[in-house]
Amino acid sequence: MNPRQTHDFDLFVIGGGSGGVRAARMAATRGVRVGMVESGRMGGTCVNVGCIPKKLYSYAAHYAEAFVEARGFGWELAHAPSLDWPTLKANRAREIERLNGIYDGLMVNAGVQRLQGRGRIVDAHTVEVTAEDGATTRHSARHILIATGGKPHVPGIEGRELVVTSDDMFDLPTLPRRLVVVGGGYIGCEMASIFHGLGAQTTLLYRGEQILRGFDDEVRNFTADEMRKAGVDVRVHCDVARIEAGDGGVRRLLLSDGTPLEADVVLYATGRQPNVEGLGLAEVGVKQADNGAVQVNAHFATHVRSIHALGDVVGRLELTPVALAEAMALVDHLFGPAPGKPVRTMDYDTIPTAVFTHPPVGTVGLTEAQARQKFDAIRVFRGDFKPLKHTLSGRSERTLVKLIVDAASDRVVGLHMVGADAGEIVQGFAVALKCGATKAQFDATIGIHPTSAEEFVTLREVART
Ligand code: NDP
Repeated sequence: MNPRQTHDFDLFVIGGGSGGVRAARMAATRGVRVGMVESGRMGGTCVNVGCIPKKLYSYAAHYAEAFVEARGFGWELAHAPSLDWPTLKANRAREIERLNGIYDGLMVNAGVQRLQGRGRIVDAHTVEVTAEDGATTRHSARHILIATGGKPHVPGIEGRELVVTSDDMFDLPTLPRRLVVVGGGYIGCEMASIFHGLGAQTTLLYRGEQILRGFDDEVRNFTADEMRKAGVDVRVHCDVARIEAGDGGVRRLLLSDGTPLEADVVLYATGRQPNVEGLGLAEVGVKQADNGAVQVNAHFATHVRSIHALGDVVGRLELTPVALAEAMALVDHLFGPAPGKPVRTMDYDTIPTAVFTHPPVGTVGLTEAQARQKFDAIRVFRGDFKPLKHTLSGRSERTLVKLIVDAASDRVVGLHMVGADAGEIVQGFAVALKCGATKAQFDATIGIHPTSAEEFVTLREVART
């Protein structure tokens, strides 16, 4: 008997988010039998309460800037524009529902058996699925994949029950007049910019020295300055002591330095934690880090070799494209590559990323501080300027471009931008960095005029060594 036939499935995936869907679909195209269980809507964090709705709301928020800027270009707006929050919510919900359907369709068309319910691992090769009505079924699999993602983490502050998380922001009953955001990471900064743009008077509280820890220091300072100029009240060295409920749903915050603050909504964007509750990991011997992240080896195998994990639940780099790449590497490893293609492996080096603040941040490679540590000598090239658009728009927003070069090899090892379309622009340059482009090759590249991106190929003066 074929050993494959001893199990119901070759791969059983728990979680229908970015990583789980990609792994299931790719495995199915290799001709193996795949099952998947998801308890909520298909698409996971990215589609339902992350990247996609966030970016849609960011577009919505940018219109506020566009209406103001349009006047400088001769446009007269007959009436002051106003946002209809229910329309934005409904249109977003319709689009997300469409995407849920597409993800479901991808599974069906690939021949994946899709189950609705909660999965719990009962042994190295068995998953128990509990449906909404409480009925349970057991499914055996040669390989099990945990792709359950993450969820927001809120610290145990006094008044914790009065705050919301990013999961709640897209469907708030009314647009808050005053919003307080706690946390200066990706989500805190993006939400602060977006809701400020949508019309909320927004305060961002960050406990440390400067927002966006882990990013290049100059980028952090520049972004904080631009967010402040745009109207977000960014406060650093700022901790919340407690939160109380006031009349009419008002939230009363008391900051650690004794300052009072009032808001209609308090968003805690203080990091995310792996979604592992009820999976039965400890019982079957799947080891986890202190924060709950599932521990895996280079091939995404846990300590129980038939059980694998990837994406946010392993907590390496919580980014959708990383989960997708991990899924493809795992499938190649388990079931072989696609016909005629090499086996893909996961490379965490030089992963580009963007923060959709207003203005957005785009970055790839090392920060200046990391490069100083890694190389004997570096050359830093930078420029900040008022983009052409703002010569007429009346806005004072500036753009930052920065290159970090290893002096010995002339390779560009870090590229950073704060400014309109930074994500779009840096994605292209990420290819160059991945290919090991040198500063001489940047210099030899002809610019596209007039763009902000051309500044990256016209930086001639060394700012620092
Ligand atoms: P981050 O880890 O990026 O940021 C968490 C923030 O909360 C930090 O500023 C942190 O401060 C602060 N914080 C943590 N604990 C506390 C506490 N107890 N009290 C006060 N402040 C606290 O997490 P996010 O939730 O913003 O995002 C999670 C991940 O999701 C990101 O790291 C990213 O990988 C991904 N993501 C990616 C996006 C994109 O690609 N555009 C968008 C959104 C999310 P400190 O710096 O001092 O630790």
